[in-house]
Amino acid sequence: MSFVLKQSQKRDVHWKDVFHRLMPEMEFHFHPECGDPADVEYIAMWRPERDLFTRFPNLRLVFSLGAGVDQFDLSTFPDHVGLVKMIEPALTAGMVEYVTAYVLAAHRDLPLYRTQQMQHLWRPHTERRASTTTVGIMGMGTLGIPCAGAIRALGFNVRGWSRSPKDVEGISMFAGTGQLDDFLATTDILVSLLPLTPQTRGIFNNALFARLPTGASLINAGRGPQVVVSDLLAALDGGHLRWAILDVTDPEPLTADSPLWDHPRVIITPHIASNSHPESSAESVIDTIRAFQAGKTPAGLVNRQKCY
Ligand code: NAP
Repeated sequence: MSFVLKQSQKRDVHWKDVFHRLMPEMEFHFHPECGDPADVEYIAMWRPERDLFTRFPNLRLVFSLGAGVDQFDLSTFPDHVGLVKMIEPALTAGMVEYVTAYVLAAHRDLPLYRTQQMQHLWRPHTERRASTTTVGIMGMGTLGIPCAGAIRALGFNVRGWSRSPKDVEGISMFAGTGQLDDFLATTDILVSLLPLTPQTRGIFNNALFARLPTGASLINAGRGPQVVVSDLLAALDGGHLRWAILDVTDPEPLTADSPLWDHPRVIITPHIASNSHPESSAESVIDTIRAFQAGKTPAGLVNRQKCY
């Protein structure tokens, strides 16, 4: 039984140390080394490989090194191989920090004050109170729920939108396309933590923006192809949207000639909202393998129908 870690950058020895400490019975390899390919039952990677399933005929679980799994084509996965997204505390904590930071930045108009500073302009503006501002989070899963809690603790009204109905303490919850308009109607700061699926590709378009109140802002930490850039620019230029804060773009890196770079109402961060950390990722993968070996459904197992 062996585990292979495929990383794009240099080998992270923390992974190996954690496996040696917590799962010494598992043979650990850094890709491209793999020992006997027939022994490889578990592999963790960010980008998939074309010949994965022929090269490792006894694979059981493929772990994504991130929370997103849209880089994998599930139709190529044999029925007996599961795809597992990363769930680990440092990844969640990083997203809570990012979302909180940029909700506050949009709420307190920090990009405007930065622009004014560059113009040597001392001009205060009326500020809104958190208690009269509604933050709406699209995607109330592993990352969305703790972000909602952190923002609520700052005094904002918080609402959440998910695919299936659910209760989250202190948060007004909405579900499915049938409740999307109600969810958007009073959302001042819209945060997206949606996975990229056929249903969410292009979801941030004219029709959706029109349902937000005038002056609303968008924070997208989901995936770039969810935003129709021409529609976003039109909504910003027409004054309907105030700020767009984009951690993810399409493509990545954003092309040098993209109008998003220089737009005065757009903030770009280079897909840094949150990353998985080696030690806690390795611990999470080991917990998942142990649960799987005990016959339990692994946390983070991707549903083939839903694509997330
Ligand atoms: P998750 O636990 O699978 O949660 C996804 C949430 O989205 C769930 O609440 C789900 O609803 C909802 N959802 C999915 N499709 C929907 C639809 N068609 N309509 C309404 N709701 C829908 O995922 P996660 O771990 O929180 O991660 C979310 C995403 O964040 C990842 O897929 C990735 O794209 C992004 N991400 C970005 C970064 C970054 O650095 N920018 C880092 C990590 C993750 P249900 O609850 O009903 O299933």
